[in-house]
Amino acid sequence: MRGYYTEETNFFGNTNPKQLLEKYGSPLYVYNENILRQRCREMKSLISYPRFRVCYSTKANSNVHLLKIIHQEGLHADAISPGEIVFLEKAGFKPQEIFFITNNASSQEMEFAIERGITVSVDSISQLKLYGSLNPGGKVAIRINPGIGAGHSEKVITAGNNTKFGIYPELIPEVKRILKEYDLKLVGINQHIGSLFMDPTPYVEAAKTLLSIAENFNELEFIDFGGGFGIPYRKQEGQDRLDLKALGQKLDEIIHGWTTKHGIYPTFQIEPGRYIVAECSVLLGTVYAVKQGYNTTYVGTDLGFNVLIRPAMYNSHHDVEVYDENGHPVKSGEYQDTTVVGNICESGDIIAKNRLLPPIREGYILVVTDAGAYGYSMASNYNNRLRPAEVLIDKNGNDVLIRRRDTFEDLLSTFNF
Ligand SMILES: *Cc1c(COP(=O)(O)O)cnc(C)c1O
Repeated sequence: MRGYYTEETNFFGNTNPKQLLEKYGSPLYVYNENILRQRCREMKSLISYPRFRVCYSTKANSNVHLLKIIHQEGLHADAISPGEIVFLEKAGFKPQEIFFITNNASSQEMEFAIERGITVSVDSISQLKLYGSLNPGGKVAIRINPGIGAGHSEKVITAGNNTKFGIYPELIPEVKRILKEYDLKLVGINQHIGSLFMDPTPYVEAAKTLLSIAENFNELEFIDFGGGFGIPYRKQEGQDRLDLKALGQKLDEIIHGWTTKHGIYPTFQIEPGRYIVAECSVLLGTVYAVKQGYNTTYVGTDLGFNVLIRPAMYNSHHDVEVYDENGHPVKSGEYQDTTVVGNICESGDIIAKNRLLPPIREGYILVVTDAGAYGYSMASNYNNRLRPAEVLIDKNGNDVLIRRRDTFEDLLSTFNF
């Protein structure tokens, strides 16, 4: 049996899961500052080309305290809604450090960014016209659909022939006509082919395609290859990490070739979300019931899909670690086929299906790893459940509350009575 990820990384610092749940309640998102900073640094050193920028994709996790750390590490950020822009501003990001990547935005949403001097990317001809009418003579970026997609689920493949995203390369003459009509300056092109690739090839191929499209425009200040960098969710099976070194070298090569050929040196940027935040967080929950089913043991917990929806929504895998009621890791005993479920009234409320886990008893604590990306940010109040608190294990190993649990008053606060 391999060690637990949380042990290998000393994830909980000076505390342990039991103490954390006693102090902050169950379930609970726990973040590790050192791991977060390390991931930011890995992305920043992905390529050596000097004009290189990492834009963190805020939707993966928008906790303001985590955003502050990401900002301290020198990353810029992508936003896809005014709400994300508000959080980024709160975390200290300046307008020039924010890139607003819109999809079917209203004119109010575009105005929100234009007023602040935030660069906007549009992803259709009709939205380019809208932008031009709101900000004639201004700067704009467009999202290109390079015709290549990749991702861990149909739902997250965001380029290619089957998605709503991006402007097709055939429309470039039309783009140019509209740019001229509204006297717009096209300062950037961006793409995002999908989420969670573990093989660098499609990303590199799509980057090459984007560079060939870039040759159509002569005022570009930046070229943005998008996000999607995968992380190994199956650590217990020994899954390999994405080979960043190989990916970085490939990107450096094509950037070097392109810039020297054309004699222009724009900024290159990438948009990682998951890679930055997924592994710095685990989700803790408590076991309230154990039931022997016909083929599997059902372990009933407070980890419903209102707290972490990825398994129910994308069929995603998260490793599960078992801790006992005193906060000590459990790895002995006869492993059995186990299905971990939540407390939501739907049979799809399964967080881990048919896993081989050590014997689990009521009162045990389950640790769901790699929960930092699309975890809390997709959590909801379904079934009128309260979204959990979020705690940071800081650089010194101490636990700090960075967002409190919802209250019933929060749930009632939006009504007129
Ligand atoms: C979601 C998104 C990203 C980040 O994707 P990850 O898989 O989390 O890296 C980047 N760019 C855009 C436009 C996105 O919508």
